[in-house]
Amino acid sequence: MNQDWRSSIVRGLLMLIAACLLLGLLTGEYAWALVLGLACYLGWTLVQLSKLQRWLRERGPEEPPPDAHGLWGEVFDGVYQMQRQEQRARTRLQGIIDRAQESTAALRDAILLLDSDGNLEWWNPAAERLLGLKDPQDTGHPVSNVVRHPAFKDYFEAGRYQEPLELPSPVTQQLQLQYHFTRFGNSEHLVLVRDVTRLHQLEQLRKDFVANVSHELRTPLTVIAGYLETLLENQDQFSPRWGRALQQMDQQAGRMQHLLSDLLLLAKLEATSYPAHNQPVAIDQLLAAIRADAVALSGEQAHRITLDAEPVPLKGSESELRSAFSNLVFNAIKYTPAGGEVRIRWWADDQGGHLSVQDTGIGIESKHLPRLTERFYRVDSSRASSTGGTGLGLAIVKHVLLRHRGRLDITSTPGQGSVFTCHFQSSQLAP
Ligand code: ADP
Repeated sequence: MNQDWRSSIVRGLLMLIAACLLLGLLTGEYAWALVLGLACYLGWTLVQLSKLQRWLRERGPEEPPPDAHGLWGEVFDGVYQMQRQEQRARTRLQGIIDRAQESTAALRDAILLLDSDGNLEWWNPAAERLLGLKDPQDTGHPVSNVVRHPAFKDYFEAGRYQEPLELPSPVTQQLQLQYHFTRFGNSEHLVLVRDVTRLHQLEQLRKDFVANVSHELRTPLTVIAGYLETLLENQDQFSPRWGRALQQMDQQAGRMQHLLSDLLLLAKLEATSYPAHNQPVAIDQLLAAIRADAVALSGEQAHRITLDAEPVPLKGSESELRSAFSNLVFNAIKYTPAGGEVRIRWWADDQGGHLSVQDTGIGIESKHLPRLTERFYRVDSSRASSTGGTGLGLAIVKHVLLRHRGRLDITSTPGQGSVFTCHFQSSQLAP
């Protein structure tokens, strides 16, 4: 092909020069004949250019280019091919975009795209149903204007998206939504919002069931424990082999009462999620009282228990904080051999308030750490029955911290000891 158009150009030029020479020979004016020949060539080139320009402007890739020969024919064909390729690529891309839009429109889950400041850039139709978004009014506005919940704002600003966030829909309280945040590109956010109302209802059913059973069992157990106590007080009236049985029954009844009160406390903590009563609590005094209880619990085991607390109050519920902190301190005593050391510290810095309970106890293997705050999770169940634990202590700690916008950090080395640290946000510290 290339050879063809090159030879046709050469042929055309040779013919033009030959025609000029012939005209020059006939008229004797070689220079003028050449000028005339070049003018004709220029005129023809201009005609082709104007044809190209008219075709590009008026017809485009829909119609084939005008007929032309030689180099101009090649130029026309080249431009035509490029235009066709570009059109095919555009059609293919449009098809992909249409399919993506169709599939996101068919999704029952909402998808939002937010810029790095949390302003809404794009969303699918499900977002309009679940969150009540309106196009174009909400475009460019902060997402926290739509989901007006303090927990949502805190979650977004904290930027820790490992766990999804669950909240009622801003459209109706009947719908329960779960938000999954993912960062991408230049700190933009992709938010997947799922309707988890059914799961939430089942979870609620489970919570109510546990709370009701615990509540119903409490009265009969109190009666049994009461009678056992009376029987133990009059032990001398029974034969000695009954004495041991009565003591064991009393011990087990005590364990069951402890378990029920922990279950009821957890149910109460779960019933309202955010936040607890916000009274300033004198943590240093609270810890001093817990330390005194810990000394009593340690008894003959004579642990060295030190307390180092700054006089910084924390906003929250005193009874909940007492449960959480005493669980940590009593665990440290329970899982530290006699004579060991337990160090309790409370301090504040730019990051917020921190409480740490450090022991020189048996420690925990790292594989157990992520599951430690689950209900009834125990590192070693045989060990638990000897310490009298319920397996609910750390679950209570986690819930109390959640309600106080705090989090729990656990580090531990088997055989050397553990450190349980509660971190609270600066906003929770009372001035
Ligand atoms: P429990 O009532 O059994 O103590 P928790 O929820 O308080 O239940 O603790 C869960 C498990 O974590 C315990 O069974 C224990 O194995 C482990 N654990 C908790 N605190 C400590 C600690 N300070 N040192 C070692 N192990 C601990």
